[in-house]
Amino acid sequence: MSSAALEKLDWDHIDTILLDLDGTLLDLGFDNDFWLDFIPSVYAASQALTLEQAKAVLTPRFRACEGTMSWYCIDYWSRELGLNVEALKRTQAERIAWLPGAQAFLKRLRALGKRLVLLTNSHPQVLKIKDEQTGVTGYLDAAISSHVFQAPKESELFWKAVREVEPFDPQRSLFVDDSPPVLRAARAAGIRWIRGVRRISAAHGGQARPLRDYGDIPAVESVSDLDPGLPWTDGRHGGLEEGAGHPVPSVPPTVEGVDDSHIRPAVLR
Ligand SMILES: [Mg+2]
Repeated sequence: MSSAALEKLDWDHIDTILLDLDGTLLDLGFDNDFWLDFIPSVYAASQALTLEQAKAVLTPRFRACEGTMSWYCIDYWSRELGLNVEALKRTQAERIAWLPGAQAFLKRLRALGKRLVLLTNSHPQVLKIKDEQTGVTGYLDAAISSHVFQAPKESELFWKAVREVEPFDPQRSLFVDDSPPVLRAARAAGIRWIRGVRRISAAHGGQARPLRDYGDIPAVESVSDLDPGLPWTDGRHGGLEEGAGHPVPSVPPTVEGVDDSHIRPAVLR
């Protein structure tokens, strides 16, 4: 595995944290199992195919759409497969789960007064199901689905459009995602700080899926490794990212409750 050397995050000069959902805050195991196992099994039953035949039909169709808006669109797949994908997602919703440490990380950043913005390719209806299960948007200041722009995060158009509704300063922003193409698009759009997340699933004890390789993109194991810690008395922040040199704060986050009254309703619909 290779990874670019990490330039220490300068938390005093980062105001906004832009966060991916699946594989960054929530366990990607849910989505992988849903699309790679559950949907093929339902499709096989609906088409009177064996599971192997269904996978042979679906795999190239999935691959052909990767990175496009269609790939992330449950309406598209409902039409394509003749299945109610949203209803099927709901039957599996209890399997939606946080990645370890993600909630504590979000609470810590909120306690430090940072603006937290979800940027997801997840379809708004899927985001709604995941929010019902986890309450994730209650930890955030805004939640934006790329579907409102009809442009995925992989595209230049998305990064232009998102600043119209969320006017962050790219030089004072950190973007965290588990997709190398998306991270490259964010870097091309001028986001000063980017980080990949290697451990995208804790399912099966975290052993079942290999850690993701980001090449020249800086990456950490999990968002917990980006935790700035509590403010030090001299006004600087510690951090776990470099792994040594700072004591790890053991004090729990100071924000216990979450309040979603400030979420922009328009972007969640
Ligand atoms: Mg993701």
